[in-house]
Amino acid sequence: MPDKKWVYAFDEVGEAEEAVNGSWDAVRGLLGGKGANLGEMTRLGVPVPPGFTVTTEACNAYVSGDGSFPEGMWDQVTAALAKVEEKTGKKFGDAANPLLVSCRSGAKFSMPGMMDTVLNIGLNDEVVEGLAALTNDARFAYDSYRRLIQMFGSVVLGAADEGFEEVLTEAREAAGVTDDAHLSVDALKQIVVRFKEIAEDFPETPIDQLRLATEAVFKSWSGKRAVDYRNAAGIPHDLGTAVNVQTMVFGNMGEDSATGVAMSRDGSTGENSIEGDWLVNAQGEDVVAGIRATKPIAQLADEMPDVYQQFSDICHRLENHYREMQDLEFTVERGKLWLLQTRDGKRTAQAAVRIAVELVEQGLISKEEAVQRVTPEQIDFFLHPQLEAASRAAATAEGNLIATGLNVSPGAAVGVIAFDADKAVAMADAGDKVILVRPETKPDDVHGMLAAEGIVTSRGGRTSHAALVARQFGKPAVVGIAALDIDLSARTMEIDGKVIAEGDWLSIDGTLGEVYHGKIDTVVPDISDRWLSSLLDWADEFRRLGIRANADYPIDAERARTYGAEGIGLCRTEHMFFEAERLPIVQRMIMTEDADERRQALDELLPYQRQDFYGLFKAMDGLPVIIRLIDPPLHEFLPSFEDLTVEIADLRVAIATGEGDAAAQQAEIDEKEKVRDRVEVLRETNPMLGLRGVRLGIIIPDLPRMQVRAIFEAACAAQKEGTKVIPEVMIPLSSNVNELRRLKAVLTEEAKAVMGEQGVEVEYMMGTMVETPRAALTAGQMAEEAEFFSFGTNDLTQTTYAISRDDAEAGFLMEYIEQGILPENPFASIDPDGVGRLIKLAVKEGRETRPDLEVGICGEHGGDPKSIALCHGYGLDYVSCSPFRVPVARLAAAQAALKDKN
Ligand code: PEP
Ligand code: MG
Repeated sequence: MPDKKWVYAFDEVGEAEEAVNGSWDAVRGLLGGKGANLGEMTRLGVPVPPGFTVTTEACNAYVSGDGSFPEGMWDQVTAALAKVEEKTGKKFGDAANPLLVSCRSGAKFSMPGMMDTVLNIGLNDEVVEGLAALTNDARFAYDSYRRLIQMFGSVVLGAADEGFEEVLTEAREAAGVTDDAHLSVDALKQIVVRFKEIAEDFPETPIDQLRLATEAVFKSWSGKRAVDYRNAAGIPHDLGTAVNVQTMVFGNMGEDSATGVAMSRDGSTGENSIEGDWLVNAQGEDVVAGIRATKPIAQLADEMPDVYQQFSDICHRLENHYREMQDLEFTVERGKLWLLQTRDGKRTAQAAVRIAVELVEQGLISKEEAVQRVTPEQIDFFLHPQLEAASRAAATAEGNLIATGLNVSPGAAVGVIAFDADKAVAMADAGDKVILVRPETKPDDVHGMLAAEGIVTSRGGRTSHAALVARQFGKPAVVGIAALDIDLSARTMEIDGKVIAEGDWLSIDGTLGEVYHGKIDTVVPDISDRWLSSLLDWADEFRRLGIRANADYPIDAERARTYGAEGIGLCRTEHMFFEAERLPIVQRMIMTEDADERRQALDELLPYQRQDFYGLFKAMDGLPVIIRLIDPPLHEFLPSFEDLTVEIADLRVAIATGEGDAAAQQAEIDEKEKVRDRVEVLRETNPMLGLRGVRLGIIIPDLPRMQVRAIFEAACAAQKEGTKVIPEVMIPLSSNVNELRRLKAVLTEEAKAVMGEQGVEVEYMMGTMVETPRAALTAGQMAEEAEFFSFGTNDLTQTTYAISRDDAEAGFLMEYIEQGILPENPFASIDPDGVGRLIKLAVKEGRETRPDLEVGICGEHGGDPKSIALCHGYGLDYVSCSPFRVPVARLAAAQAALKDKN
């Protein structure tokens, strides 16, 4: 394809747009995010140093081909370079008037620090002299040169970074300075000589430098750290990276020069104020690397007020143009401001919500867009643990608050220290919660950061690699703790004389930037944040699905309501049976074979159940409450057969050896044997498929009858007090309509009896869980009896796959997922082809029988955003999930509805 366009100058962004039919997303695909935005800034008249972009298509052709550039590409590069020469009036490789360029990667999605960059391309032994003469600044020229050799050496030639750093450290020591900016020209010249010994094959010809750097950027797309990052961030591997070649501007030309990075809003809190770091007389990498202490952006306003004003205007202009918070890189060369990059800024979950809401309030985006810009995972983050106040206060009082650093990624994390990424992974694999502690992080550390609960570094700023990556992946992080002295070989760290070893506990608060030695309790925070409530209120306007909660106790119901639940989708009544004072009564009810005695035990349980249900009705005043009748098999309430056998054997041994009171021991044996005999009768090889759910109700009707009595006595009492009650009685694990017919008759009779006794009419429904394939396949029949369906997708997944829900995730299932046999865990996210198909069919056939059939889901999938989107598509009336997932579900349901609309 000789005519194919592989290279676009920044001012040709319009042509690129035409080539991909006008879609900005496709422009970003072709030119990468950085290239597309450099073009767009150029089009907007923002000062951008001239340059061009080699397309991602060229990268893909290179990496999938024989290791040579695609035909015609290099000619286009040299032609584009000639145009840059024209624009700048400088010449590449000309010592009298040199053009220097940078060569940077830029994929469609930002992958901070994952790929390669080379600056100052175009310098050699001759050109450096010319540059020195031209700028009258030999220090600047040699500093730029040594940077080129260093970057080219490590990025293109693969020389170890440490070698260069050692030379620099020695030079600083020899000169008695702490900062590279204070090294003399002679010192820099010597550094250049020594750097060239390390970077042996450094090419003197500028065009060779550019060619090799371009190849290195292409290759870095397939490098391990980039691949790892893409796997973690879910970025496809076939996008390729573009290469941006751009005229160098210099922030290291003296005290009127500077370089910096900034966000148009605060990336941690979302506050609408410019946030960033900058350095006088420095080059870009110095700021991000966190090696020199940076200045906050507010100081730019004091030191270079005109530049700041212009920068702040550009920030606002770009934000308004992109209608999104921007992350910018700038350089000031002898008082002139240049923008080197803009992209959508990374942010914490809190900031994402606040920014989305404030952009709506500013009229820049619609509520629909705001709701789509925040991910369900970010909402989930609001429900993440924070350090518990009393436990934190105690730790502080004991002197365990060891350090405060930059609060770059919020939330609390507690774990044991690992001092390197591989160790962090190994410890996490062994089941430990880990805090990764590093002097600073680099792209090679990402796997350890992902394995860790939280991250601590002694160097680096808000925009350091550690901060960006932590924020992106929602890992609490505290960085830039200068007083923290990490000794990687001794595997210890020291702060204020306190030595802490690898494996010791640390608790960190990424919201406040605090680090504690030891283990502090954590709590889940309250979500009454003004921005979050606005966003979720808007989500409520757009969603079609109702959101209910799975809650067994009034306190859970109350929490669910404050989180926005519109009813209870599942109250598992058996949980109430396990309470300490109730269990002996439950056990008595199970042990007896005498009907009267059983009824008596049930009568004793009734008031407890009534009280629980009353609490639920009161908490959910006016909202539906689905109460599911007892589900698990009865032997689950008795001690295990094996335990009883061991206990009996121990007692026998005690009697034989004459230890203790033999008569009392024999009585205990008799009692335990009685229980064991009953357990033996009741226990099943396959209890999940045994006497449980509706089957239990058919065999022991007194049990669900008592529960229904308790429900209606509670409902009548609450209604008499003016509470609006909407009970929905749910029968579990049915597979044949005859089961429903039989049990429903018994329960309806009981309900009516109670209402008669109480002189109150309560509106109610009786329905069933659909959690066996047969129930789904015969939904048309089931709906003859059931007034509502609720999909129990935990059991429905188990029975559809014939995979035990209790064992699967500890066993082969994970292996299946790793091997790609299953695309994901069907117990976490609905399997659309199997389980989902059953749901679809059941909804359709159930509604054919009963058009007003209410249909919901109450399995764990009800809180999973992907499954929620499926449920929206299946036409369910609501999803029900744990109270903590309710806000996530509200957003996910709205996003599904909006996606449907678009
Ligand atoms: C289900 O099976 O999905 C369900 C909600 O019931 P349980 O988890 O109590 O069996
Ligand atoms: Mg179930």
